[in-house]
Amino acid sequence: MTTLNVKGGRVLQEDLTIEYSDILIDVDEGIILEMGKSLGGDDEMDINGGLIIPGLVNAHTHIAMTLLRGYSDDKPLERWLKEDIWPIESQLTPRDVHIGSQLALVELIKSGTTTFCDMYFHMSEVAKATDSSGLRAVLGQGIVTIGKDENDAHDDAKNGLEFAEKYDGYAEGRISTAFMPHSINTVDLEYFEEHIPRVRESDIPIHLHTNETLEDVKKTVEMHQMRPIEFSLEHDILGPGDFAAHCVHVDSNEISLLAENEIGVVHCPASNMKLASGIAPIQEMLDRGVTVGLGTDGAASNDDLDLFGEMRDAAMVGKLFAKNASAMNAKSVFSMATMAGAKLLGIPAGKIESGFVADLAVLNIEAAHLTPIGNGVNGIVYSAKGSDITHTICDGKILMKDKKIETLDEPKVIAAARECVEDLTERVGNKK
Ligand SMILES: [Zn+2]
Repeated sequence: MTTLNVKGGRVLQEDLTIEYSDILIDVDEGIILEMGKSLGGDDEMDINGGLIIPGLVNAHTHIAMTLLRGYSDDKPLERWLKEDIWPIESQLTPRDVHIGSQLALVELIKSGTTTFCDMYFHMSEVAKATDSSGLRAVLGQGIVTIGKDENDAHDDAKNGLEFAEKYDGYAEGRISTAFMPHSINTVDLEYFEEHIPRVRESDIPIHLHTNETLEDVKKTVEMHQMRPIEFSLEHDILGPGDFAAHCVHVDSNEISLLAENEIGVVHCPASNMKLASGIAPIQEMLDRGVTVGLGTDGAASNDDLDLFGEMRDAAMVGKLFAKNASAMNAKSVFSMATMAGAKLLGIPAGKIESGFVADLAVLNIEAAHLTPIGNGVNGIVYSAKGSDITHTICDGKILMKDKKIETLDEPKVIAAARECVEDLTERVGNKK
């Protein structure tokens, strides 16, 4: 066994208090062994008084969309997708997706995220890039069948299932998978009916977008005379252990159904605000026992992958929506970005405890905007930024040390992404 002692700092304990402590990690197994002082260890890493927090969990994103950051702004979801995003996405090559993923992986590592859940296409490229970055992920091929001929639609759904079966356990177990239909309005029911029995048999979770906009809900009600969560349960499209992104426009009965059926929800407040989709009733979901994680959604509707910003947004907009300053308190929001997110992805992460995965981030709390840090969690949620992260560890391995990424060449990745975007916009321009 090789051990690493992360020393010279403070640790955010399980009860969310801060204590001066070191952490001993089993590097081979990638787990936390113990916390305390004078722990020894084969290797040591001094973090100079930093605060060790659990690595953050981004439970819903589309990482390669970093390439589309700033490509289309200030439009509502339907027009944003149809007029700009889907046309440019149709031009993305596997190489583009690889480069866009690398750009995102740099941003995730730099801002202390150690696990993310990604839905996109050319997913074998996302898996390869994730593998070499050292991060942990739940990946799925996004399935869309509407607007496609029968053969293409059939292949898309089949590929989604095959990807989930093939890549589960990839990257020495850091990658797991889910079956990811884009939504019940963009995948025809026949493809759900064809594939869901095998998905259930293989015990693969399902992740999709749902109840994102009023328009989205209206479409389902008109087509099926049922609200989306009811319809999804009726057809086994959602069930225990599955998780859905957004859930902005859910009624009281749907919240009960989510809680009773143990379906997780991923809250994406920045994306919901930018596309003016609405505000999800998250405090009510928490009060009624729904597991809620936090996601940035893609960088084209956020426009970054910084979960610290997302925590702040979730708290601020949640209080405003509930008209209650005590709603969406710092502890609940921090849990969404760590423990709850890990729980809904089925990963033993999100807290610093012996036996849990060694996915950690170190926050420089000497900065002016973090002085004083208060009770810790409040400072993390309301004042900290991704750029305050100095070290990132995932699966026991150091991915960033003193702000320098060890697994990816940051300047090279940024230069390649710039070139890639130039080429892509030229291709799309020529098509227009
Ligand atoms: Zn999304």
